[in-house]
Amino acid sequence: MAHRTNLPPTAELQALDAAHHMHPFTHGAGLAEKGARIITSGEGCWLTDSEGHRLLDAMAGLWCVNIGYGRQELVEAAAAQMSELPFYNTFFQTSHVPAIKLAERLASLTPEGLDHVFFASSGSEANDTNLRMVRTYWEMKGEPKRQNVISRWNAYHGSSVGSGSLGGMKGMHAQGGMPIPGIHHIDQPNWWAEGGDMTPEDFGLERARQLEAKIKELGPETVAAFIAEPVQGAGGVIVPPDSYWPEVQRIVDKYGILLIADEVICGFGRTGNWFGSETMGIRPDIMTIAKGLSSGYQPIGGSVVSNEIARVIGGGEFNHGYTYSGHPVACAVALENLRILDEEGIVDRVRDDTGPYLQERFAALTDHPMVGEAKIKGMMGSLALTPDKAARASFAADAGTVGLLCRERCFANDLIMRHVGDRMIVSPPLVISRPEIDTLVERAWKSLDEAMAEAETQGLMKAAAA
Ligand SMILES: *Cc1c(COP(=O)(O)O)cnc(C)c1O
Repeated sequence: MAHRTNLPPTAELQALDAAHHMHPFTHGAGLAEKGARIITSGEGCWLTDSEGHRLLDAMAGLWCVNIGYGRQELVEAAAAQMSELPFYNTFFQTSHVPAIKLAERLASLTPEGLDHVFFASSGSEANDTNLRMVRTYWEMKGEPKRQNVISRWNAYHGSSVGSGSLGGMKGMHAQGGMPIPGIHHIDQPNWWAEGGDMTPEDFGLERARQLEAKIKELGPETVAAFIAEPVQGAGGVIVPPDSYWPEVQRIVDKYGILLIADEVICGFGRTGNWFGSETMGIRPDIMTIAKGLSSGYQPIGGSVVSNEIARVIGGGEFNHGYTYSGHPVACAVALENLRILDEEGIVDRVRDDTGPYLQERFAALTDHPMVGEAKIKGMMGSLALTPDKAARASFAADAGTVGLLCRERCFANDLIMRHVGDRMIVSPPLVISRPEIDTLVERAWKSLDEAMAEAETQGLMKAAAA
């Protein structure tokens, strides 16, 4: 154990943290008992904690630090913008250079026909914008009955009331009166957990066709939009069967329903193209962006919308906006981040070199006795943990019990992986090198071994009754 001499300050920080700092998605009692891990610095794919441990960050922070930690160019872009103009708003017919430049840059990067950006400071805010924007769009177009939005169970679209309602996390819905009216959920294309005896292809079609059934049930003339992540992230990196997206695209086209692709994780190179929509071959009307847009160096998000939506919304006044919509410092940092992603060929490297390499090494983890499937697109992947691969069984314990054991072994082995239920997730910085990928996979294997040994000791390696 390195740097035991640092323990008193860490313990003190942990006590203050537990006493005063309310954490997102964290069990209060657990925090008070064990203390938070305190991260102090980062460089490339590596973090250092207050105890001096060096951790390989296989989650890129929270799916966002695409260019890695410690890039001074972004620091300088922020400092320069702060001296020049630290803040001005974009309300009431004012603008500023960083917002103009970033909007233009995004219009050129995003798929054809998506040339207009409404800025926010986060993915949640951007999805709230989307919810109001699609409903307003149909009202302005003279179809005011189109107010329903369809989403999916186990989707993640943010944590505000609007975006949390769009999401399909039942644990979130149970707290604070969500979902709000007019939002409807269909099942997710998670073949491993829910596919039963169907082939993945048949299952993908079945799940896509739930969209058509829901549209018919609600009445097509009442449906505004369907929202989905090209690849579900926080739901456990659920890569849909190949049959899924083409069928969804056919259905939204048939009924003239807007498609919102939530690209908050998939965007900016994560899947090996600039946007997940390109990887999955879909044509959204709106894309939600955040996270990798600034590699997390500044809070910024937005909605990139079609020319048609921009035309209709622009025909009136959209009574919506955030003080920090298009914040100049955040825009300047995002621009610099996009320059680096582009000029250093990082997206191409994920598609052609390190992405395929990670995929190959990751797939080999299915040789581990506790790993059922390994799914990955570009640099977002997940492992399904199971006590019985052939049966695709879940554990005879609360979901996430073994996943948490595994995450703790990863932490102990200086590897940051996350668990979603009993799936283990990776989403490393896109700059991860081949030797670092080797380290990631070796540490993951070791952690899986240790977690399985622990699960056996605790009698958890038993399949739940089917
Ligand atoms: C993280 C995330 C959001 C919410 O973004 P915040 O910046 O946390 O508000 C929305 N959609 C997806 C797909 C996400 O992963």
